[in-house]
Amino acid sequence: MFSHFLPCPERNEVFGVGGFEPSRISRSVRHWAFGRLIVMLVLLLPAGVGGGDEPELADAVAADVEAIRAPIVMTERAAELHRSLLMFDGHNDLPWEVRKRAGRSFDNLDISKPQPELQTDIPRLRAGGVGAQFWSVYVPGETMRQGQALTQTLEQIEIVLAMMNRYPETFELALTADDVERIRGEGKIASLIGVEGGHSIENSINVLRQLHRLGARYMTLTHNVTLDWADAANDRAVHGGLSEFGEEIVREMNRLGMLVDLSHVSPDTMRHALRVTAAPVIYSHSSARGIADHPRNVPDDVLPLVVANGGVIMVNFYSSFIVPESAARDAESAALRERLIEETGDEQAADAEVRRWRRQNPAQAGTIHDVLDHIDHLVRHAGADHVGIGSDFDGVTMLPDQLEDVSTYPLITQGLLDRGHDEATIRKIMGENVLRVMRRAEEVAASGR
Ligand SMILES: [Zn+2]
Repeated sequence: MFSHFLPCPERNEVFGVGGFEPSRISRSVRHWAFGRLIVMLVLLLPAGVGGGDEPELADAVAADVEAIRAPIVMTERAAELHRSLLMFDGHNDLPWEVRKRAGRSFDNLDISKPQPELQTDIPRLRAGGVGAQFWSVYVPGETMRQGQALTQTLEQIEIVLAMMNRYPETFELALTADDVERIRGEGKIASLIGVEGGHSIENSINVLRQLHRLGARYMTLTHNVTLDWADAANDRAVHGGLSEFGEEIVREMNRLGMLVDLSHVSPDTMRHALRVTAAPVIYSHSSARGIADHPRNVPDDVLPLVVANGGVIMVNFYSSFIVPESAARDAESAALRERLIEETGDEQAADAEVRRWRRQNPAQAGTIHDVLDHIDHLVRHAGADHVGIGSDFDGVTMLPDQLEDVSTYPLITQGLLDRGHDEATIRKIMGENVLRVMRRAEEVAASGR
């Protein structure tokens, strides 16, 4: 509904207004940082620090908060660990950029060369140590109303397949978890297809099967538009989750061995799908609502259900989803838009006013530490087996410092080491968890045949 002015797949995010002073250190982060400081101060006490010398202590605290949030510096240990682990990202929208910018042709956009306008190209994928990637074949929800959803989805799949044909030394299509390991072992990037939004199947189970046959290995149940069979997070809820047909879709996906992706759906759709599915689910690109209160993130009370299901939440890097103040700004601008429409009944005028307001109240980009906060929150509340990485590169317009493009993944490995995670945990988060989920979904499919 807002596609005419928001140019990226993560676009009709709820519009928000941020009504408070920007601060470099977010609230949640301050909580986290002070928690760490209390531990450090306890450790320092026997050495004579803190004996009532409060001004000095306050300075030390302030300096320490800064130090904890300082830019991450790569070490050889982290670089080596990152080279040896499977870096498996859940969501990249490069195919949409190839459609928009290059008429769907790599002749017009040669990604073997640096493409600074994009967040993804082959030199940077290599620098980032990417071993496997779900490429999104996103098309806007509005295509459904135009009768174009399936046609355009097929065109997007064709872009991913063309990419593999054109750069066979870099990419190879992966259909199974074994494929991922083999292709990565051969030094290539295992490339998987993810359908972003159930509108792509045009209400047909048959089309769902066809997309699976073409190579699609996950489908996000909705994008930002509520469907005839599932409620979206950023749209009106009409089913209280899934319709009966929605349940049938989930069961068919289990039967096919296609991952059920719960990014973009409403919390009730999450709960409903988790009740119905026989296989573990993924969130291909969603962060933690317990850190940043945005409807695109996963609420804390859903986390135990994901744990029981064995699924994985792959953390999104988009500034509006990860920085608490930026998420609040989105919520405020959504409220503003709703109020204006209620008052005037003029959607276009409301959108124009909201655009103006958003320009005056820009989002904060945040830093890599904001993303690490989401990972830590999910590890703490769901466990290290249920956390992954789903950057949303080339689907978003603003990214945190030190996570600007696909070359930056090693900094996450470094940041997790800095925060005290062991190597086995880091391997799971960076890729092993989603591989486990794929394998389990394949077993569920095989057992039903
Ligand atoms: Zn998305």
